[in-house]
Amino acid sequence: MAEIHCLKCEQTAEQMTEPLFLGKMEEEIKSHTCQNCWTEWNKPGGVKTMVINEYHLNLGDETGRATLKKQMRAFLKLPDAGAEFKDYRT
Ligand SMILES: [Zn+2]
Repeated sequence: MAEIHCLKCEQTAEQMTEPLFLGKMEEEIKSHTCQNCWTEWNKPGGVKTMVINEYHLNLGDETGRATLKKQMRAFLKLPDAGAEFKDYRT
């Protein structure tokens, strides 16, 4: 199993193997994000849901999807997020 260094939690972890259905970003996410941090973002009621609600994002719309992508990059501490991540859960 390949090991990766997660940019979000700065832990070394086993690389995720199941498909994430992220298209071009799939490889990047799997190389820099651990399962725990991904789950925190992606689980029902997780950070992604918070972002969608907080920004009133319409994911049927290009702008909405772009904002969600920026917030995902910022949350996972991937480079070039182009946005600040603010945690509204606290
Ligand atoms: Zn992590």
